[in-house]
Amino acid sequence: MAYEISSKARKIVPYEPVTGRVKVRLDANESFLPMHPDIKRDVISQIRKVALHRYPDPKAEKCCKAFASHYGVDPALVTAGNGSDELIGLILGGFFAKGERILITEPDFSMYEFYANLAELEVVRFQKKGDFKIETAELIAFAQQEKVRGLIFSNPCNPTSQGIRKLPMRMIVSGLPDTLVILDEAYMDFWNQSMINEVAEYDNLILLRTMSKAMGSAGIRLGFAVSNKKLTKVLRGLKAPYNVSSLTQAAALGVFKHPEISKDAVLEIMAGRGFLSGALMKLEMEWKGSPFAFRMIPESRTNFVTICFEDEDKHKEIFEALKKKGILIRCFPAFLRITVGSSEENAKFLDELRALHR
Ligand SMILES: *Cc1c(COP(=O)(O)O)cnc(C)c1O
Repeated sequence: MAYEISSKARKIVPYEPVTGRVKVRLDANESFLPMHPDIKRDVISQIRKVALHRYPDPKAEKCCKAFASHYGVDPALVTAGNGSDELIGLILGGFFAKGERILITEPDFSMYEFYANLAELEVVRFQKKGDFKIETAELIAFAQQEKVRGLIFSNPCNPTSQGIRKLPMRMIVSGLPDTLVILDEAYMDFWNQSMINEVAEYDNLILLRTMSKAMGSAGIRLGFAVSNKKLTKVLRGLKAPYNVSSLTQAAALGVFKHPEISKDAVLEIMAGRGFLSGALMKLEMEWKGSPFAFRMIPESRTNFVTICFEDEDKHKEIFEALKKKGILIRCFPAFLRITVGSSEENAKFLDELRALHR
């Protein structure tokens, strides 16, 4: 007899980001802006005060308060996590029982399925159409018909860049009263259709935010869940007591001290997106009818743009060719996703993409 690894563990497909040195990194939707020196100074001064021989504050109270006042929500409704990734895992593992049905829209953030598998949930998929927009009534009807216990999706969506407005979002949450809706607003700092000030009105809504994208702090590893008191109590009970390190908590205080810098950063990233999508739109016209014909998904609400070439092979070909040139983007079977970079990075990406066509 020998120890045998469970079939569940064997089935797990690891999420393996490309690591190592790359000249131009446009693959992970991080902010291209290095931390502002004023923020860095405050981060360091906060970290200096940390008593590292003690456990961190289990409630991450100061940092939840800073988050809450930044977004104008009640701190009693906020739970901090080691990245929103941890919170996704805790929610799917803790709020649902093995075999319960969870609805995932496709395409969407791949970690939802990862954690759903880990929790041994039954995944039900709602396939988005060609323009990647979600028809609200269709989604609601599908969720009801499939009798799902949960729905998890990102808005605006990674990887499609598309957004659902508040009005239809309210219809989704109130139209599925028996379903726990996990609404991942990782990119909502780039748009203005957040439900964050409405969570207390719903019995069945958990909203997620992260410091990793617009807030330019992916290395800190900090995410937040916002939900009504009852759900918050359960979620706080699910997490490990010391899930957010003292260093992370301290660093976040430094970041939240400078809302005006974060706001400017968002504007700068959105200006970069304007440049990148404008240039891609032009290429889309120029390359019509050629083997490089593609279409850009218009109206990105995020810090990335998504483009669709003819097929999976073409996406791989372009991805690999750019990688050889030191430019990393994200390759999916049905499209390519390009994170907005600095002006130089965006220009470099466009130059190398144009060079492939020649
Ligand atoms: C990047 C991303 C996250 C991960 O956030 P972390 O806080 O860094 O774990 C969650 N959801 C979506 C949709 C993302 O794109």
